[in-house]
Amino acid sequence: MSSKLDFIPKELTSLKEQGLLVNIRVIDSPQGAWLTVDGKKVLNLCSNNYLGFANHDVLKRRAQKAIEAFGVGPAAVRTIAGTLTLHRELESRLAHFKGVEAALTFQSGFCANLAALGSLSGPEDVIFSDELNHASIIDGCRLSRAKVVRYAHCDPQDLREKLRSETSARRRLVISDGVFSMDGDIAPLPEIVAVGTEFDALVLVDDAHGEGVLGQAGRGIVDHFQLHGKVDLEIGTLSKAFGVVGGLVAGSRQVVEYVQQKGRPLLFSSAVPPADAAACLAAVEILEKSGDLVERLWANTRRFKEGMRALGFDLGRSETPITPVMIGDAKLAGAFSRKLFEEGIFAMSIGYPTVARDKARIRVMISATHSDRDLDFALEIFGRVGHELAVLH
Ligand SMILES: *Cc1c(COP(=O)(O)O)cnc(C)c1O
Repeated sequence: MSSKLDFIPKELTSLKEQGLLVNIRVIDSPQGAWLTVDGKKVLNLCSNNYLGFANHDVLKRRAQKAIEAFGVGPAAVRTIAGTLTLHRELESRLAHFKGVEAALTFQSGFCANLAALGSLSGPEDVIFSDELNHASIIDGCRLSRAKVVRYAHCDPQDLREKLRSETSARRRLVISDGVFSMDGDIAPLPEIVAVGTEFDALVLVDDAHGEGVLGQAGRGIVDHFQLHGKVDLEIGTLSKAFGVVGGLVAGSRQVVEYVQQKGRPLLFSSAVPPADAAACLAAVEILEKSGDLVERLWANTRRFKEGMRALGFDLGRSETPITPVMIGDAKLAGAFSRKLFEEGIFAMSIGYPTVARDKARIRVMISATHSDRDLDFALEIFGRVGHELAVLH
């Protein structure tokens, strides 16, 4: 007898056959260089905890204090009764840190993109979006109901041609990831800004993987390229280098106020709890005092990547701590990841639809929490598994 739910086992089986079924590992330890995963102690090469803030003593203490002072739940959306002094403090601190007039925080980076794109563009507008932009940008574009024109990855010349051929729009808006999350390459933001300016288009950058990583002490991609005041809105996350959870937009007072008035995730979904806001505030304060953690992150990145290239691995076009180890076939990448796990290394394989079908990879995330010994251990195991599975010759 057939049922209306028959499509589910059919599609799940098909995903499994293609090696594309997501296998969710369960963690039973705090985030750090080592994790307990499915009961096994493994070296963590997966998380976005770039600076070790996810389990940092100072952040934990600040979160605990905030719980004592403000409780655990926001109890409302930001615009009704959910905005605490802590949220406002965090926002002014973030604005100061990034050298902009104003910042506004959200429940996640995903929500920040929905809010920014959903408020700054509408059905009469055209959004020009890098073809490899993050899923939350794609969904933000959908929410706006603007026409979306994808331009070739990191290609300002193609962007210029696409802008030239769209003349009837009310507004034109260009958006790019700052650091691309699957390849670790950096958007050519100075050229994108120049093209945007030429056509009087709004320019937005989603700096989720640049925040805490690029620029002076992690001030982000705009600081990295010294483009202060030239980007209309920076979008970011507090869930990666900042180690907690949340999102943000940052820019001029006017643009940020506009997103605050119109952004649907802010108007219709509850605020971030006090403990999270307080922990984020502590993270910003630490980075304002010192760039040591960011320097350690980059030193670790150089050590690991040099070692991997010496072994003969293809690291794609990475320029950041995001280190794709290119494998190609999704099933082989899955087998590589499982083998690494058996040897004590937690590094996930990534396949379609997150990346193109023939571009499956192991995605290694380097963190300031890794010691030299950790990285050397990783290199040893990668070399061994690489030969065993004939990825290296
Ligand atoms: C991770 C990521 C997001 C989503 O951030 P969350 O805070 O996890 O929702 C948005 N944009 C980009 C480019 C990202 O890499």
